Amino acid sequence: MEKKEFKAESKRLLDLMVNSIYTNKEIFLRELISNASDAIDKIYYKALTDDNIVFNKNDYFIKVSADKEKRELTISDTGIGMTKEDLEENLGIIANSGSFAFKKENELKDGFDIIGQFGVGFYSAFMVASKVTVISKALDRDEAYRWESEGADGYTIEAASKDVTGTDIILKLKESTEEENYDEYLQEYRLRGLIKRYSDFIRYPIKMDISSRKLKEGSEDEYEDVVEEKTLNSMIPLWRKNKNELTDQDYNNFYAEKHFGFDEPLKSIHLSVDGLVKYDAILYLPSTPPMDLYTKEYEKGLQLYSSGVLIMDKCPDLLPDYFGFVKGVVDSEDLSLNISREMLQHDRQLKLIAKKIKEKIKDELLNLLKNDREKYEGFFNNFGKQLKYGIYSEFGMNKDLLQDLLIFYSSKDKKLVTLEEYVERMGEDQKYIYYAGGESLDRIDRLPQVEFIKDKGYEILYFIDEVDEFAIKVLRDFKEKEFKSVSAADLDLDKDETKDKVQEENKGLLESMKEILKDKVKEVRISTRLKNHPVYLASEGEVSIEMEKVLNQMPNGESIKADKVLEINPDHKVFEKIKETYEGDKEKLDLYTNLLYNQALLIEGLPLEDPVEFTNNIWKLLG
Ligand code: ADP
Repeated sequence: MEKKEFKAESKRLLDLMVNSIYTNKEIFLRELISNASDAIDKIYYKALTDDNIVFNKNDYFIKVSADKEKRELTISDTGIGMTKEDLEENLGIIANSGSFAFKKENELKDGFDIIGQFGVGFYSAFMVASKVTVISKALDRDEAYRWESEGADGYTIEAASKDVTGTDIILKLKESTEEENYDEYLQEYRLRGLIKRYSDFIRYPIKMDISSRKLKEGSEDEYEDVVEEKTLNSMIPLWRKNKNELTDQDYNNFYAEKHFGFDEPLKSIHLSVDGLVKYDAILYLPSTPPMDLYTKEYEKGLQLYSSGVLIMDKCPDLLPDYFGFVKGVVDSEDLSLNISREMLQHDRQLKLIAKKIKEKIKDELLNLLKNDREKYEGFFNNFGKQLKYGIYSEFGMNKDLLQDLLIFYSSKDKKLVTLEEYVERMGEDQKYIYYAGGESLDRIDRLPQVEFIKDKGYEILYFIDEVDEFAIKVLRDFKEKEFKSVSAADLDLDKDETKDKVQEENKGLLESMKEILKDKVKEVRISTRLKNHPVYLASEGEVSIEMEKVLNQMPNGESIKADKVLEINPDHKVFEKIKETYEGDKEKLDLYTNLLYNQALLIEGLPLEDPVEFTNNIWKLLG
């Protein structure tokens, strides 16, 4: 017999399991049954390509048995089994180590979190068992092995005897305490309930010996206790069942059983389509984003079945990137079972299904938006960014599909509005859909240019996501109304003749200021939009100041600059001061111009080019 240590990571996870304070310990059964079912699947797949193996459905099953005296619960399967090496590799090292490494060391202390984020599979047995014994005989092998562990300090492997191929997992249950009852996992009704609840759609029979009182044969009033082996799960996949017979709870259980997430799904969508392509699908909108959603590690995709047999765990071609957060299964009898990944990509049937699914998701989201605004806003907070990236990255090809799903904060009560709602509220005289970008709603609200447009009675969309303006630029317009940044230099809101006159009168001054600022600005001009602020930095052209900020933050972003226009408020006292300097004091004009420009940068949230010079200038002014 060899005694071995667990690998470091596994040891830590095991510790967590053994000392788990997790309340949902019962999921261990689901995990072990899933493993058993996977093991049978493996034989099934082998049989597809190996003529020596005959897969006779009746030979494959999972059996759960409880021994109250020994306090042992056994989960047996007739699956592919494990060799000695398999036992060592599969059970000695944590399976999901990739995602495990994803978590930082310090976060590991919290057992909740770990179990909340990842399926922990086999190790979950240690939540309820003080000792776990695995006896396994691999397919086509004569010898069997026994793997045994009492927790984090290690495991042993030794030769064992077993007649049939497959695996027995024997759990020696922990002693019950006042807080925790482990004996319930020996109770027939409890086990039955758990199997029904979590493992009803496992495709192989899950059997258990069930006792009942029955009339004695040949007797009319004498009863006896009989034990019969019964299959507890219905085995019919959820998606094949009639929608009307299913409850929210059924869908939610399926979501958990499939490990789609540890949240409750926000919404489930059940499709049974009998058209050009026949397929069933169950799709879920999660309520919380998986924590790796916005990382490279995240893999989008739906589980793909062909006539009830899994062909791919995450088929990416079924979902566009912008709906990459959707989880679910698709089953179609029109797809070939032996189709390869590469072929799938070009499969006409699959493309048709993908198109329908995309439209269905959109319709459901629109329904949610119309009928349950609060829920939709919650959804959008979590996943809206992805929709906006979707518009941007596909150059607006999906405009029709996505634009109605967008919501933005607006100056009207700082509530979220759809573009439709905005346009409906537009007055006759309003030409554009106005927007303003910034770090937060409050900051945007205080921008001078925002004040000006609000005073005109126009509503403004507030962009606080970096991607917002980029997405809008790609959309260009909505219902023929163009989007317009409130910082655009060419706002062409009411031509103001007096201002034109002021502009004309001060031409020399404005040109001098432009010369002082050189390339920093394209022009210095009299503003028609300022009320209380002396200066303001507008932008011309495609790149706005907000976009400049975002682009320059990107790791490989070139330094892209917006064409800036310094606007001066002619009604402000400061303007009078400047005029005086223009007439007599060249040096002061220089100083004032630079100060004003830098103040405009500050208001826009842009970095000062030279903070030391800026403060020196202020001292000069004070002095
Ligand atoms: P996961 O199932 O997520 O891979 P587990 O920790 O549950 O992780 O299991 C680790 C591995 O052990 C499985 O991938 C599988 O190869 C093997 N295994 C577990 N249970 C069984 C079983 N009943 N029969 C055969 N192999 C099994």
